Amino acid sequence: MDLTQLIRDIPDFPKPGIIFKDITPLLQSPEGFQNVIENFLDRYGQWEIDAIAGIEARGFFFAVPVALALGKPFIPIRKQGKLPGRTRSVAYELEYGTGVVEMHEDGIAPGSKVLIMDDLLATGGTLGASAELIEESGGTVAELAVLIELEALEGRKILEGRQVYSILQF
Ligand code: AMP
Repeated sequence: MDLTQLIRDIPDFPKPGIIFKDITPLLQSPEGFQNVIENFLDRYGQWEIDAIAGIEARGFFFAVPVALALGKPFIPIRKQGKLPGRTRSVAYELEYGTGVVEMHEDGIAPGSKVLIMDDLLATGGTLGASAELIEESGGTVAELAVLIELEALEGRKILEGRQVYSILQF
């Protein structure tokens, strides 16, 4: 199945010069969406993972079905100010701005092996900050998994030493 047909380029969103990879056609295609989730399940089904973390918001689309299918806890990694309990934060730089990711302080059991999922890897700032959050919370990162990797932005360089998995490369 050619999943690239289900990813739409939106030029100059959210800022001039950015080509936004819009995954809404994929979400509208049950076959395409299922294909992506099965790809992740084929990879992680036999791994020793204690929890699946998803990055707000588009990471949730992938992390939640994978967590449910594997019977593992889902951990939301959210933007600043959204989580109601006591949080830990890490600041990061984005392809189009800066941001902060947060997690509940008691979000994972100490020693947990966590798979972190997002929709897209660009510069690597978001996934890098999310990995730090997991580690500061006493967990270890099993792998960083995304649907799309923008290879020209060399996000893997920032994430050097970490395992990264992507289904589609542009
Ligand atoms: P980065 O931290 O630079 O790797 O950016 C990754 C995060 O920003 C992901 O959560 C993406 O959803 C979002 N993002 C960055 N660049 C794009 C893009 N060109 N198209 C769609 N989403 C993007």
